[in-house]
Amino acid sequence: MISKQDLERILARENNGPSVFSLFLDLSVNSDNKRTHRVFLNQRRAQFDELDSERWNQPREEVGQAFQRVDQWLEDEFSEENKGAVIYTELGGDWFEAMQFPVAVANRLVIADRPAVGPLAQVLESYHHHGVVLLDRERVRILSVYLGTLLDEIEVHGEPYPGPHDVQAGGYSQRRYQRRKLEEMRQFFKEFSKEIEEFDRSYRPDDLIILGTDENVAKFREFLPEPLQAKIAYTGAMSVGEPASEILARIEPHVQAEREREGREVLQLLRDRVQQDYLATTGLQGTLTALQEGKVDTLVIGRDLDHEGARCTRCGFVFARTIEECPYDGAATEGGIDAVEEVIRLAEAQGSQVEFVEQAEVEDMDGVGALLRF
Ligand SMILES: [Zn+2]
Repeated sequence: MISKQDLERILARENNGPSVFSLFLDLSVNSDNKRTHRVFLNQRRAQFDELDSERWNQPREEVGQAFQRVDQWLEDEFSEENKGAVIYTELGGDWFEAMQFPVAVANRLVIADRPAVGPLAQVLESYHHHGVVLLDRERVRILSVYLGTLLDEIEVHGEPYPGPHDVQAGGYSQRRYQRRKLEEMRQFFKEFSKEIEEFDRSYRPDDLIILGTDENVAKFREFLPEPLQAKIAYTGAMSVGEPASEILARIEPHVQAEREREGREVLQLLRDRVQQDYLATTGLQGTLTALQEGKVDTLVIGRDLDHEGARCTRCGFVFARTIEECPYDGAATEGGIDAVEEVIRLAEAQGSQVEFVEQAEVEDMDGVGALLRF
């Protein structure tokens, strides 16, 4: 499964000569149960065959080889249950790396001096890694869920509580029995809480979802240490034995609602700050400038945004529009730069929070804005 570490690794790659072919593929099946990525691949391939590609410093033969490696990977490595993939390869170089995941990405091919990371960041930033806890008074199941998929599951049964051996038939009062069951529950919930702490340490979920009867969930919460209580994003009723597919279907709308709520909150904060003229910026140029000054705390950006800009050939500053010369040093600029890719790359490299929202919601700010650190 892909993770933030993959993104960091790709970002950290040095530009060591050959151009990088970055391919994002939508491998989801349509209503006829068919994948349509072939159409896109054939179109792109045909473009390179027709074009005088040498002119663009993209040797035709090497582009052809890249497409062949992609075909080979799809044939040999792609798992049918996945819906999206990113494939990187150097034109005429050795590097080849492919990642597949259970959510779709828009088809896109980029050939540039560095690998394109925007769509990969969009996938990774749009989903949280959830720790889903299901419990009753005897057992707990802890599921690691990411990109709508079950990655791993742990199940723990409480150690049977030692009962009195000298109980005669009918000699065990109802009150003592209940007290014993209560003590047993406490014991189990303590054990379960330890298991969740352990899970949190090793799996590092972004949040926790706790499912069980309302009574058990409410009681169990109290056994969790404060930092884990703070991580609870949702609690709900569910029986402990449900199959994983049911659990995933059950939490999906809540997870989705939570994502949307987060996006709305950040966006509202951004709008408030813009109005107060306090530590915020909007628009592609304002955001690019803030990023290049290292000021961005949280980037808010529309999904699948597309915008061309320019880069100074001397100082490397990126501009949101095509300009002839750099206003800082007068040097010539290079056009055709993917300004959105630059924005995402800068934000990720600086460790800024990145929040993707629907394009329509940020139309009035040209698709992008940022909360600033200073
Ligand atoms: Zn410059």
